[in-house]
Amino acid sequence: LYLKRVELHGFKSFADRIEIEFGPGINAIVGPNGSGKSNITDAIRWVLGEQSVRNLRGSKLEDVIFAGSNTKKPMGMAEVSITLDNSDKLLPLDYSEVCFTRRVFRSGESEFFLNKTPCRLKDIQEILMDTGIGKDGYSIIGQGQVDEILTGRSEERRAILEETAGIMKHKARKKEAEKRMEETVGNMVRIDDILAEIQ
Ligand code: ATP
Repeated sequence: LYLKRVELHGFKSFADRIEIEFGPGINAIVGPNGSGKSNITDAIRWVLGEQSVRNLRGSKLEDVIFAGSNTKKPMGMAEVSITLDNSDKLLPLDYSEVCFTRRVFRSGESEFFLNKTPCRLKDIQEILMDTGIGKDGYSIIGQGQVDEILTGRSEERRAILEETAGIMKHKARKKEAEKRMEETVGNMVRIDDILAEIQ
């Protein structure tokens, strides 16, 4: 499983549609200060579901949309797609390439796609859970994050180990099951009340 391609259109400094191809192994992006290197990692975080504007180095939602320059008008929409090579079938999908897309409009309306088919963010998160690729995975190590891991509290370090060991998925499912059990208990109380009323 590796990142094969990133496509950007209207995302941050990338007004025109561009495609960046990656190969297996080490790839490097080089460029002058301010040329948009970090915007590419922001784009990857964003398509993986990053919701915090601060983590995307912005202050409001629409900061991810191209804001215009001396020669180009601002855009009304930002779109990012990442394509993962899945020939080793590490992602639980029957495709050798998996493409995730996220689109946002200035109105705040947001859309997600899985291989060009509309989906929910939750679907993307579930596919990526325990692969280490999710927005909270450790496949993207930001500046300063190494320090954070080393100086973090023991519970935080445990959460990192749990994510990499692949038990986060089961924890999330347990939480969902507990929520459903709570709802069921609530429903049973209501049924008891109704029964008491009609008896
Ligand atoms: P450095 O090497 O200094 O870390 P970098 O190559 O990582 O730089 P980025 O931080 O990715 O550069 O890019 C910053 C540039 O992106 C700035 O010039 C900024 O004006 C531009 N930029 C960020 N958001 C937008 C936006 N919404 N619209 C237009 N340009 C934007």
